[in-house]
Amino acid sequence: MKQLAAPNCTPEEAYMACTSAIIDDQQRERMRGVLPAISAIAAEFIDRASGGSTWQLPSLRVGRGEDPLVADDIRKSELVHLYEYYMVQREPGRAIYDSILVAAGDHCPTCGGIGQPRTLDHYLPKASYPKLAIVPQNLIPACRDCNTDKRNPLVDHPHQQLLHPYLDKRQFFEERWISVSVSHTVPCAIIYSVTPPEHWTDEDKARAANHFDLFGISKRYSVQAGSELGFLMDMHMNYFSRQSPEAFSDFLRSAANSVDMINGWKKVLYEALANNPWFCSGEFR
Ligand SMILES: [Zn+2]
Repeated sequence: MKQLAAPNCTPEEAYMACTSAIIDDQQRERMRGVLPAISAIAAEFIDRASGGSTWQLPSLRVGRGEDPLVADDIRKSELVHLYEYYMVQREPGRAIYDSILVAAGDHCPTCGGIGQPRTLDHYLPKASYPKLAIVPQNLIPACRDCNTDKRNPLVDHPHQQLLHPYLDKRQFFEERWISVSVSHTVPCAIIYSVTPPEHWTDEDKARAANHFDLFGISKRYSVQAGSELGFLMDMHMNYFSRQSPEAFSDFLRSAANSVDMINGWKKVLYEALANNPWFCSGEFR
């Protein structure tokens, strides 16, 4: 739910770089022989990720231990190995890997910046889409929790398409679709939920809800908000106790405005609290 600029490395550049480290001339040329096929599927993937139709890309469904040919005479395992060895462990592929990871900064795009990106995750898993194994636009920086939560389910329904931080519709990153409720109790409970704009299609609403559920955003956001709330209550008691509720509300609103991510836990929380007279007048005590 955090938008990122797409990697500036093309699928063709990544493929040529990773295969350049293959020492055996014959094997390197064999692998390079399928570059047009890689290029074509990468272009289709990029197009579909932009339009929200990656679920229609045919996936490879094979049993354990099977290793079919996936492009001319190249097997699935060879493309997976190209990623796992020539992109993750060897230069010059590793430099591409690192550049994609570093470009995300400290904020995992999938969970709205709660975690720090530690690894690259395949948007469409390499086991089912081996020809996309080293396509940079299919590689998403992920924190440990998001990487674990994803569990690589088969994406065979439009609702299951995760939000793509490079290519997806801008509405997911520019419009508010997460909201928070604050109970007027002591202590108060904070619950985040999915509330997409009415004008979104049912499919896009369902995609947002699926992403939110799959990555446990509600609980993870609430944990962040819980500790922030303690800090804000202290601040109210120490610095705003003699000031008007409006002054505290203004403070919260300006803090919300200083945060970029429209669906980030902090911006959503601060805006909700700024609009909450019960909280701004210190009745949480
Ligand atoms: Zn994350």
